[in-house]
Amino acid sequence: ASDPVAGLTAHDQAKKLPKGVVLDKDGKPCRSCTSFAAWRAMTRDRAKQDGGGSGASPEASRSRMVADADHSGPSSNCPPDVETLGRGTWTLLHSIAATYPEAPSKSQQSDLLSFVKLFSRLYPCWVCAEDFQSYLGREVPRVQSRDEFGNWLCGAHNEVNRKLGKPQFDCSRWQERWRTGWRD
Ligand code: FAD
Repeated sequence: ASDPVAGLTAHDQAKKLPKGVVLDKDGKPCRSCTSFAAWRAMTRDRAKQDGGGSGASPEASRSRMVADADHSGPSSNCPPDVETLGRGTWTLLHSIAATYPEAPSKSQQSDLLSFVKLFSRLYPCWVCAEDFQSYLGREVPRVQSRDEFGNWLCGAHNEVNRKLGKPQFDCSRWQERWRTGWRD
């Protein structure tokens, strides 16, 4: 999709953007930091303002707006929003915990620690990454065993849940959710 607010200063963009749209450090909207709903509101506003988009024919503009309105969530072949990216990432991280050894070697412990630190610097949603880095500063990752790491990660995920107003997950059940399946 084209940049919906191209040509505006960061300040103007921030004033014009719907709630929930997060700007990147270059002042452009950050797709991987923004929910699909907020992104859609932004593209709709822009389509209304310019009659449907920069250079697009009225028919193309109309069909794009209708397509936007018809979608209830992000399409699976579009760039991920903050939620799709987060869900996929938590699946990867908890699955790494689930397959981490019960008694890891020193080199496995060091690999996991390096991975978590590098991950926190490379995560595509920069606001998420910055908060995760501060969490790492407060709560050093525990990598001495599978259960220690799984519980640490569960605590880290719960911290994000708290920030977003989501329910806390019962960390005593992390292995059921991510490794063994639920007990009946
Ligand atoms: P998710 O939170 O993605 O969870 C997926 C599944 O994990 C749940 O269905 C549940 O079965 C299980 N689960 C939930 N909590 C736990 C837990 N504590 N331990 C084990 N399993 C659990 N989004 C933002 O809007 N702002 C942010 O700042 C932000 N920071 C993030 C930082 C990181 C490092 C990551 C990976 C994601 C971040 N996200 C952020 C995305 C956010 O956490 C969610 O992934 C997203 O909102 C989708 O949520 P969801 O309700 O589908 O479930």
